[in-house]
Amino acid sequence: MADYDYLIVGAGLYGAVFAQEANARGRRCLVVERRSRPGGNIACEERDAISIHSYGAHIFHTSMPEVWHYVNRFASFNHFINSPVANYRGELYNLPFNMNTFHQIWGVVTPTEAAARIGSQRQAITNEPQNLEEQAISLVGTDIYEKLIKGYTEKQWGRSCTELPAFIIRRLPVRYTYDNNYFSDRWQGIPEEGYNRLIEKLLDGTEVRLGTDFLKDRAELATRARKIVYTGAIDEYFDYRFGELEYRGLRFETERLEEKNHQGVAVMNFTDRETPYTRIIEHKHFAVHAPELLDAPVTWITREYPDAWKRGNEAYYPVNDARNQTLYEKYADLARTESDVLFGGRLGAYRYYDMDKVIAEALATARAEMD
Ligand SMILES: Cc1cc2nc3c(=O)[nH]c(=O)nc-3n(C[C@H](O)[C@H](O)[C@H](O)COP(=O)(O)OP(=O)(O)OC[C@H]3O[C@@H](n4cnc5c(N)ncnc54)[C@H](O)[C@@H]3O)c2cc1C
Repeated sequence: MADYDYLIVGAGLYGAVFAQEANARGRRCLVVERRSRPGGNIACEERDAISIHSYGAHIFHTSMPEVWHYVNRFASFNHFINSPVANYRGELYNLPFNMNTFHQIWGVVTPTEAAARIGSQRQAITNEPQNLEEQAISLVGTDIYEKLIKGYTEKQWGRSCTELPAFIIRRLPVRYTYDNNYFSDRWQGIPEEGYNRLIEKLLDGTEVRLGTDFLKDRAELATRARKIVYTGAIDEYFDYRFGELEYRGLRFETERLEEKNHQGVAVMNFTDRETPYTRIIEHKHFAVHAPELLDAPVTWITREYPDAWKRGNEAYYPVNDARNQTLYEKYADLARTESDVLFGGRLGAYRYYDMDKVIAEALATARAEMD
């Protein structure tokens, strides 16, 4: 007789939402997490009263009313609006590409002038774009490409834009309004008590075993529950039988500075090729509900370096090219034959998922499973 209805592998957002839903329906769950703390990639650390996003800047944004309503049951969100600044060799530009950016680059004032500039520069590409460079120029022209896309993208992928496939950039949103709000979603913000508290509340009432790797103890753990919800990497689950799915890695360098305010904004992108990191996050700027933090004499920053990835490292961005997609489909076919295992979350689906999509998926799976 199984002791639990569900064994949930992974205490990230997907696992925590599924656990909350199962618990609310009276199901017994055991969550196992190989890391020493819950939260997956939204986990934070508290230092000098500042919440530090341990795995890169996480800004919650959604246009799904159901998801917004749901997360607000477990967290109050502040009014943070993501308005990153691009730093190209000391020249500063607003992001996303909008009228402020166009004014800073060309001195233009009206949308018609900006559209004319972009339109004429786009004509540099007359053929079907053969690589990422041509694709980007065909969408936004040469100036924006050179200053704001080229160096950043080359650092991110570790390859020259002429060697990268065009499909990586399908569209580049261009906004002909003076609007620096990076996301166009209806709702956005940061949990005032931090992401750890959100996860804690979602997992309230559920047994969680940290430092427990399901794959190391699979035979024993699998007998404990009727069904498994697996949110780890799908290729790892099948012992890499068809080969390894590729990821792009990241390295974070976090530092305490004896300064009140280091860069004046939460996210600054470094878009030249020479600066080795892509972004600096200054964490206190996420806490717009606590302006007194700005008067505190210390601040915490994180430099984000793109990195090669190898098995055993944290997997951040899936490389969804044709090879990996085909390989993933083979694993997904195999996964469908595992009748007592539900695969979910970003690693289970080998997709880049924003948090709201992860929540929506977990809610839909829980409903399909239990209602
Ligand atoms: C750099 C970066 C920035 C991001 N910024 C944003 C943002 O601004 N806004 C946004 O909406 N989204 C953002 N995201 C996406 C967000 O991180 C994800 O949507 C979310 O964290 C995914 O949750 P998950 O539960 O699917 O996966 P994860 O958070 O990866 O959780 C999976 C958990 O499973 C555990 N696990 C894996 N295998 C095993 C095993 N064998 N045994 C036990 N445990 C196991 C892992 O340790 C992990 O804790 C960002 C992602 C990255 C990489």
